[in-house]
Amino acid sequence: MIIALACVLAIAVIAFILGVRAKDLPEPEPESPFLHLDERKAAIYENLRDLQFEYRVGKLSDQDYQNTKKDLQGELASVLAEIDALKAELVLGGPAVPPANTLNDLICAYCGAKFEKPLKFCGECGKPMKAAQA
Ligand SMILES: [Zn+2]
Repeated sequence: MIIALACVLAIAVIAFILGVRAKDLPEPEPESPFLHLDERKAAIYENLRDLQFEYRVGKLSDQDYQNTKKDLQGELASVLAEIDALKAELVLGGPAVPPANTLNDLICAYCGAKFEKPLKFCGECGKPMKAAQA
């Protein structure tokens, strides 16, 4: 009876663990491209704070402090530049800007007439609108 109870308990525990795992696994958090850069930025800020603290309590010489601070600030600048580059990339490739071939659909390659919607044939000159891309 005790063995049977122990078995039931063990199965219940395993089922619980597996159940929790199964619930956690299917939805991995979507990883932001900024995540690792933000983490690096936070780490550098933390290092700068530590550095200032150590300098204030007299653990570091002026020279060491200035050198390390310069290194960290350089690192910080490169991380910030990476974040900016990534942001610019996301803006350029984002859905707000229409892809180039959608734009071509709206402008007749023959007469240059512009249209609100993509057309099969130009409303001005009647030429096929997609000929330019073929
Ligand atoms: Zn036309």
